[in-house]
Amino acid sequence: MNSVGKDEIINILDKYDKDEITIATLGSHTSLHILKGAKEEGFKTVLICEKGRETPYKRFNIADEYILIDKFSDIVNLDIQEKLKSMNSIVIPHGSFVAYAGLDEIENDFIVPIYGNRKILRWEADRDLERKLLVEENIRIPKKYHDPKDIDRSVMVKFPGARGGRGYFVASSFDEFNHKINDMKSRGWIDDSDAEQAHIEEYVAGCNYCIHYFYSSINNEVELMGMDSRYESNIDGIVRIPSKDQLDISLNPSYLITGNHPVVMRESLLTQVFNIGDKLLKSANKLVAPGLNGPFCMQTIVNDDLEVIVFEISARIDGGTNSFMNGSSYSYLKHGPGMSMGRRIALEIKTAIKKGELYKIIT
Ligand code: AMP
Repeated sequence: MNSVGKDEIINILDKYDKDEITIATLGSHTSLHILKGAKEEGFKTVLICEKGRETPYKRFNIADEYILIDKFSDIVNLDIQEKLKSMNSIVIPHGSFVAYAGLDEIENDFIVPIYGNRKILRWEADRDLERKLLVEENIRIPKKYHDPKDIDRSVMVKFPGARGGRGYFVASSFDEFNHKINDMKSRGWIDDSDAEQAHIEEYVAGCNYCIHYFYSSINNEVELMGMDSRYESNIDGIVRIPSKDQLDISLNPSYLITGNHPVVMRESLLTQVFNIGDKLLKSANKLVAPGLNGPFCMQTIVNDDLEVIVFEISARIDGGTNSFMNGSSYSYLKHGPGMSMGRRIALEIKTAIKKGELYKIIT
């Protein structure tokens, strides 16, 4: 199978009417503020949405046009691709787009211009590749255990894919690891192949900050756009139970993201924040040319040594950007009021069109 080449995409872009560009995305994840931001920057907007899921989009009146499909994965169907191209569409990839369209299809079959680097999406989805990106420039990450028999402290056990933390657990010994793996299997939360691929890492005790960056390749600068912390089920419910009762009940914690809180970090940590953002940009440039482009996110825990420790990245817009649809404290400092991540993307595309550099920021 041939992967979608840049030349192919440039050919399509050459035929586009640059005064009539449409910003397109799939109706899920961060599409509300992606399309709102696109509208604010003067673009036409289209939402591709699964039938039955359109209510919030229509109630917020978020798109100029809706393409309703039977199932989200139909976004890669040829007739939908043709429709998008006929509208001069640039597609903004987000977590649900990647999950529903599929990495292979995005790399090989989806021949519509995408904002950012389509190749890097595989790197964030695969834990080993993701780790390479972080290790390349010595970004501080949790210690990894290759064999559960080596567990010598509290560890966090994770499973493949972006499943919102479902089935993740904490253990402190090999015995506890085995016991909990069996428990997760009996609940149907993981299967044998998940168990074989269990990822075990040091449990970092601290506070959660998900840092949202935007790399402008037009300005060659990494911007800090906002931060959120996660609101996770059922762990955030369990911690409301007094600790003596926690021991008495048989609930096992899970880390399924159900929402996000906006947050700011103590100011003295921002030097580290910019440093790790610049480092990730550098390693992405080295390992997955053309590297990062547009939004990316580092999910971190700040421990009581005030170290910012990165346990996960998103190489595209992250769901936590929904916590600043009207701008964040940090986007305010750089851009003034009302700059969401969606709007920042649209601003970048607008600037690239004005400068005749659209080809630089799409793949
Ligand atoms: P993830 O699916 O990797 O985003 O993890 C889900 C949640 O698990 C995070 O939001 C954190 O609350 C928690 N978490 C992940 N990795 C660690 C770690 N190494 N130490 C402590 N908590 C973690």
